[in-house]
Amino acid sequence: MHEFSIARSLLEIVEQETLPYGGVKVVNVKLRIGKLSGVMPDALRFAFEILSEGGITEGASLSIEEVPVELYCHQCNTASTVDDPFLVCPHCKGREVEMRAGRELEITEMKIEDGNQGSQEHP
Ligand SMILES: [Zn+2]
Repeated sequence: MHEFSIARSLLEIVEQETLPYGGVKVVNVKLRIGKLSGVMPDALRFAFEILSEGGITEGASLSIEEVPVELYCHQCNTASTVDDPFLVCPHCKGREVEMRAGRELEITEMKIEDGNQGSQEHP
């Protein structure tokens, strides 16, 4: 299950980001996951929970925002959001489409427990 390797790298990022604060606990991690990233949110939650045991993210919840697939068609110059992974323009059925969103996999915010709620924005 490749969600385990993804969860592991997420944990590494979280640990690095919280290093300067020292000894904090992470209570929530917000993620954006594109529908075409191939990540199953439930599987990722499961992997994250298991890998978090005994670490600073133990008991932390994951808030997962699923990002829809956005296509831009160069034939009819229209942007559209699609649910299925077929890269065809829903307006003109053209195939000259460019994917503008849908493959994201990023941490957008972390909530740290240390009295004040620190959150971090990532570029
Ligand atoms: Zn089109």
